[in-house]
Formats: sequence, structure tokens, C-alpha cells
Amino acid sequence: MPVRRPSDGQVHGAIPIGDAALVDQAVSVATAAAAEWRKVAPRARARLLRRWADLIDRDVDLLARMEAVVSSRFHHEAMVVDVPNASEWLRFYGEYCDKIDGAVLPTADNALAMVVNQPYGVVGAIAPWNFPLILSMWKVAPAIAAGNAVVLKPSELTPFSIVHVARLAIEAGLPAGLFNVVQGDGPGVGSAIVTHPGIGYVSFTGSTATGRRLMADAAMSGPKPVGLELGGKGVQLVFDDAGDLDTLTQKIIWGISRNAGQLCYAGSRLVVQRGIADALVERVVAGLEALRPGQTWDKAASLPPILSDMQGKKIDGIVRDTVDAGASLLTGGGFAEVEGARDGIWYRPTVLADVPAGARGVAEEIFGPVLTVQRFDAEEEGIALSNHASYGLSASVHSRDISRAIRSARAMEAGTIWVNGWGRQPDFSAPFGGWKQSGFGKEAGRDGYQKYLRQKTIWAEL
Ligand code: NAD
Repeated sequence: MPVRRPSDGQVHGAIPIGDAALVDQAVSVATAAAAEWRKVAPRARARLLRRWADLIDRDVDLLARMEAVVSSRFHHEAMVVDVPNASEWLRFYGEYCDKIDGAVLPTADNALAMVVNQPYGVVGAIAPWNFPLILSMWKVAPAIAAGNAVVLKPSELTPFSIVHVARLAIEAGLPAGLFNVVQGDGPGVGSAIVTHPGIGYVSFTGSTATGRRLMADAAMSGPKPVGLELGGKGVQLVFDDAGDLDTLTQKIIWGISRNAGQLCYAGSRLVVQRGIADALVERVVAGLEALRPGQTWDKAASLPPILSDMQGKKIDGIVRDTVDAGASLLTGGGFAEVEGARDGIWYRPTVLADVPAGARGVAEEIFGPVLTVQRFDAEEEGIALSNHASYGLSASVHSRDISRAIRSARAMEAGTIWVNGWGRQPDFSAPFGGWKQSGFGKEAGRDGYQKYLRQKTIWAEL
């Protein structure tokens, strides 16, 4: 299967397409490796994960290039964000290796009841294309630290960097077969992972549509538990008293232009109180127009390419339909040219105002640099508009009135709410995950680790 570079549309390399038989082989070596892994003392496991992390840091430049060339991640960002984040994830969860606790329950004197937490054995992981390395390691690090082996399928669009990370696991001294990467497409390899009887838990990050199908497959072939990190439609709820307009403008722009909006937690719906709406929108439009589209290896660029032709057409289709439904186009709405980029695809940062409720632009995840604007008068109206989306991954609220900000944050329906900010890098210790159609099950923090363990109660007759 050919893999293209989004920055110029050319074929960069190819991957073999796996199938159910290859997944079966991976599960069988993973099962054996998981048994070996559980014989390793917890502190020794933590040391191995730290060594693996150090090797990832050693190869930061290579990994950042591998990441940037076939994804829409800037090389300069991958160097300081994606690769260091992937290695730090291993260090963070390495520290959990010897901190799995259990319980002894109060029982009658003639019995002893213990609750122990044990790994599943083999965990399946399926990753998307937008942050290939980070989103894979969010699963791999806690699953392995909890004592499991992993069979992972990266996106077929961005398959390379994680293979190098898997090689580094061997170099670090982890048992061969503990971390397996199987290349291929969703219907072939992805569904074989979901339905394989030797895989006890499946951790998925991707679109809501695929998540639904995956959960149905897991139900009908198991049932087996799944964790679903799905799409988003992030709101930026802005009150008149949000403070300095220039600072606020930067947050709104960053929220929709980072990774060209190809971000599950993109702040793609601006819901703004009428008093400052005109002034804020005017600044946001000017700021978005000043962004510079460029290739992922161009240090001066601030707007990366759209990953694929298909994704570009989808963005444009939603923008057109939303304009047809009555929205006004304040800027953008079409493709941008980048000199020397041949068939690379950039979408001009777009602002759609006065979007009617229910129009595609406010209802669907666009996954591109497209911001919709809706205005409100009263606080309750703003919160109601915010909660209108069927997604609930993340949202922001901007107000200098602390009572109002916290009141709104509590009323907003999403798994993460940023107050007077947007997109604080989901922290290692802060659980991240969706409500509503954005999925369930958390990544990061204790919950992001605990989900790779299952409870067992042991009763002993005394
Ligand atoms: P996608 O759903 O198209 O694909 C995700 C993965 O699932 C890929 O590896 C794909 O090959 C695989 N897949 C496809 N069909 C499958 C099937 N039937 N069974 C098993 N696996 C299958 O998503 P994408 O386009 O790669 O990624 C973008 C989406 O991911 C967006 O919706 C975005 O919001 C979401 N996302 C969510 C988060 C989060 O933390 N909630 C983070 C990043 C991306």
C-alpha cells in the first residue's frame, strides 16, 4: 500500500498489508511475551521502560523526520513535542509498574478475601493519523507497564515512526514480541485485532463512525471491553468580560489553526457574547489570514498541509454546504497554493458566521482549519449553545469572573474544560477522554493505567 507525503502529494514509501493470519501470529508471540514479562520484577520493568524512553530521545531527529514526512506534523514541533512526549509517557507509566495495589477485605474469621489487579495478557491498540507517535504511546506505555503485551495497528496513512519505536523496544532489552506493530487497513487488520479471541481489551483512537463499528464488532465477537477516544467539536465559549482581546485572539487562532485544525480537541466553534463579538471576530479573521501555509519541514510555516486529498474534499464539502444553509463566509473557503509543493493540499483558514443551528458546519467534526461563529446574549443561552453539539471531548470557557467561569465549566458537557485557555497539552496525570459521542474511557493519569488491568477476587477458606 503506497504512503504519500501530504506536503507534496508524492509517494514516499509503501507498507505491506497485513491480514487476519498475521494478526493471529502477532497475538501468539505476544501471548508468550506477556508471560515472560510478568516474570520480570516490577522495578526491573520500570528500568527497561526508562531505557526504551532514553533510546527514543537519542533518535529524536530521525523519529521527528519520520513523523513529519508522512503526517501533517511540523518537523520542528515533532522535535520538541511529539517525540519527547512519547518517551516521557514511558517514564511516567514506568513509575506505575510497582504501584499496582490490591485489597484484603473484611470477612468472617474463617475466610480471607483478596482483590488483585491483573493484566489482560494481550491488549489491542488502534491509532489514528493525526498524532501518530503520541497517540500510539498513550496506549502502549500504560498497557505494557500494567504487564500486558500489545498488538498495535497504526494508521495506514502514517505507519512508519512507530515501527522504529518498536525496534528500539528490542534494543532496550524488552522481550521480543512484547510490542508488535501490524500494518494494514481497518477492515483487514483493525477488525482482526478487535475480534481476535486472544486479545482481552481494545484501546481505540479515531473517528466516531469507526468507533461505533468497532464496538459492535467487539460486542458480537466477545463481548470484550473497549476504550474509545473519538471525534470532537470543541467549543470556545467567550463572555464579554474575557479580558485582553489580543491574548484571547491568539488562543482562538491557535485553537483552530494548530495542525491545521486536524486535532480531536480543536476549538472549532466560537460561541461569543454579543458585546465583544464584532471586535473579536475581526481580530481572529485578520490573524488567520496572516498564517503562512507551508510544508512540514518549513520552519517558517505556521499552517501545515491537510493530510489527504479525501480529507481536503471533505472539509471543502462541509464549508460549501454550510454556506448553502445560510452561513456567511468571512474569510477562507477554498484551497491555498504553496510554491513548489506540487500536489500538497492546504485549506485556507476559514471563518463561517451566523451559522444556522443544525447546519453541517456546527454539527459535524470538520477536522480542518474552519471556525464557526455563533453569538449569544445571556449566560444560559451561551451554555445551551455550547452543549448543543453531540460531541463532548473538550471545551474552553473564557471569563475573568471566576464564579461565572467555574459555573460554566461545571455546566458544560465535555470530558475536559479549559478555563481562560485552550489546549493545555493533556498532562500525564490529568485524565483525558470524551463524553457523549466523543467516546468513553480515559487516557493519561491513573485511569489511563487502571483500564489495562482487570480485577479478580480470591476467596480462601481458613
Ligand atoms: P479513523 O476512524 O478513520 O481511523 C482510525 C484507525 O482505525 C485507523 O488505524 C484505521 O485504519 C482503523 N480502522 C478503520 N476501520 C476500522 C475497523 N472497521 N475496525 C478496526 N479499525 C479500523 O480515524 P482517523 O481519520 O485516522 O483519525 C481522525 C479521527 O480521530 C478524528 O475523528 C479525530 O477526532 C479522532 N481523534 C480522537 C482523539 C481523542 O483523543 N479523542 C485523538 C486524535 C484523533
